[in-house]
Amino acid sequence: MANCPKCGAHLRMIDWKQRCPHCKANVFLYDLQERLMLDADKAEVQHYHFQKKWTVSKRRSSARSSRSRAS
Ligand SMILES: [Zn+2]
Repeated sequence: MANCPKCGAHLRMIDWKQRCPHCKANVFLYDLQERLMLDADKAEVQHYHFQKKWTVSKRRSSARSSRSRAS
């Protein structure tokens, strides 16, 4: 059976794809976001290998700007 991806609470089938009764996380969306992020990582790696030369310099500048936004 499934467990809540956020708090780890055991979920009944009726809770799955709905909200966790313990932490109120939207279980379905939480799982979906995780998968989308994994897919995005994979896509980024493939893109990196496909267009290595110009992507390297582009990634450097975008990493710098996102880091300054985060802090
Ligand atoms: Zn939970």
